[in-house]
Amino acid sequence: MGSKPTVGVIGVGAMGSMAMWRLAEAGFDVTGIERYGVPHDMGAHGAETRIYRQAYREGADYLPLLTRSHELWKDLIRFSGREVFQQNGCLYISDGATPWLEETAEAATAYKVPVTLLSDSELATNHPQHRLYGGEVGLLDHNGGTLRPEQAVLAATGAALRLGATLMEYTVVTDVAPDSAGVTVVTDTAGPLRFDAVFIASGAWTSPFQKDLGFEIVAQRLPGTWFPVDVPADFVPDRFPVSIRVAGDLDYSGFPCVDGWTVKVMPPVFPDTQTIAESVDRTVSPKDTAYTRRVVAELLNGVSGSPARTGVYIDGFTADHRPVIDYSLGSNRVVGAVGFSGHGFKMSPAVGEIAVDLIEATIGARSGIDRTRVPGGPFLRHSEGSSK
Ligand SMILES: Cc1cc2nc3c(=O)[nH]c(=O)nc-3n(C[C@H](O)[C@H](O)[C@H](O)COP(=O)(O)OP(=O)(O)OC[C@H]3O[C@@H](n4cnc5c(N)ncnc54)[C@H](O)[C@@H]3O)c2cc1C
Repeated sequence: MGSKPTVGVIGVGAMGSMAMWRLAEAGFDVTGIERYGVPHDMGAHGAETRIYRQAYREGADYLPLLTRSHELWKDLIRFSGREVFQQNGCLYISDGATPWLEETAEAATAYKVPVTLLSDSELATNHPQHRLYGGEVGLLDHNGGTLRPEQAVLAATGAALRLGATLMEYTVVTDVAPDSAGVTVVTDTAGPLRFDAVFIASGAWTSPFQKDLGFEIVAQRLPGTWFPVDVPADFVPDRFPVSIRVAGDLDYSGFPCVDGWTVKVMPPVFPDTQTIAESVDRTVSPKDTAYTRRVVAELLNGVSGSPARTGVYIDGFTADHRPVIDYSLGSNRVVGAVGFSGHGFKMSPAVGEIAVDLIEATIGARSGIDRTRVPGGPFLRHSEGSSK
């Protein structure tokens, strides 16, 4: 038997770690290259918790990625013994002013996603942590739940390492140069490396590092805020599902208590938060927390009004907030998966499988391991200069 084809994975965050796991399981000789340690809290996989949901406001065409990821999250728990996903539901709450929640419910029902609509009195009885003013509508996505991003990155990388992968931490990739026989990856400390194929998952750092993509990945700054709760038992995942709520001019995401004393409240992504990944301001100012302090004061019961903990994170955004997963740099030996625009974590394991599909189509190596194919569908968008 010949040696396994080699794949370099650039950026071992959400997408890179999942790709390492799926590529190693598919029989590739995988090397992950990460500028920091794995995991870390300076990119898009920090901040302790993420929402997983299938009733998807952003479009039902994400459903193949979401349903395959749902299976893989459960596999990852089995492989790693880490509770990286808890299916405690995702609760949407609307003030009823516009029909977005009803439209999300309709699409979910059409695609057989199990959901329950809740009246304002049912919300008050079942979810008293939310302060209601009357006229609200709720939607519970029963397949939704809470992901643990740092642990998931650690678990997927660990699974890949157990399958024989190699990890190079604190190594920055400065150039990727494909040719007809392979790909040369230039690094700051380890010299040039040679692979049969490369998967680029450099998140918010993409545009300064990949100048010829033909489209821009804009880094955006997302400050996170954690507020102490009066009674932690009322906010544990089983009693306080992840939530997305629109009330008047407020629109936020709420996350259960997983540290024993706080809940996380995230504001929407504001358009004026564009930044440069390498020089992002990591200081959280009172201006940064004003929005979520208002959410806590107006929309939650039993939560203290000042954040006890804060952090600054960054993600890479495309113009239409839809990710790009495609061959890149004019070569079918280079695959990129970038621009997850503040909503990619939940689908990251399936993105790892698309990496396998695209690289296998080029290198043609099969491990003989049975694997469900994930259709890339609308997310396979060709970048300028791409050869296929
Ligand atoms: C605060 C916050 C909350 C979010 N909430 C949700 C949510 O509830 N649900 C959801 O589904 N999604 C959510 N998202 C979005 C989701 O987390 C991201 O879309 C996803 O993690 C993006 O993954 P990534 O691999 O592209 O980026 P990252 O996880 O940031 O990984 C990129 C990696 O590449 C490394 N890297 C970059 N350049 C180089 C280089 N040149 N050499 C070596 N390494 C390099 C970086 O260090 C980093 O580790 C949220 C994002 C943030 C920031």
